[in-house]
Amino acid sequence: MAALRNCAKCGKLFTPISSSIKLCVQCEKDEQDQFNQVKEYLKEHAKATVIELTKATGVERKQIYEWVKSGRLDIASVLDLGLSCESCGKSIKSGRFCIECAARIESDARKVLAQQDRTKPTDSGSRKDRAGFHVADSIRRRRGY
Ligand SMILES: [Zn+2]
Ligand SMILES: [Zn+2]
Repeated sequence: MAALRNCAKCGKLFTPISSSIKLCVQCEKDEQDQFNQVKEYLKEHAKATVIELTKATGVERKQIYEWVKSGRLDIASVLDLGLSCESCGKSIKSGRFCIECAARIESDARKVLAQQDRTKPTDSGSRKDRAGFHVADSIRRRRGY
């Protein structure tokens, strides 16, 4: 007999029919209902944003992200995930910055690097240069070169 397990959502003890089941029967059913609602809504409103979806279906944004992340919900069917550029606030589809800001940040970082190459760093390197260097450094690391 399968071991009892706490439902990942409501915490209730239940007997999973397989080890991949994380939710109790009730929560599993609720989630399936919510999922169907979202799917139905997207069928009729192909350009719905996540904000619209949460309003129309009452499903939490976090839950919709979960479905998108797990591939259950097609990312193309949700145009606006509610992400915004950390620099200018423009809405974006993925990552932390919009294309423009990402390009600007990278070129700023390059400038700082170029400056550091020209003027060999002295003991009194300013704080600003150091911060810039960190940004450049993390961009390079993220890109893997
Ligand atoms: Zn439950
Ligand atoms: Zn931006």
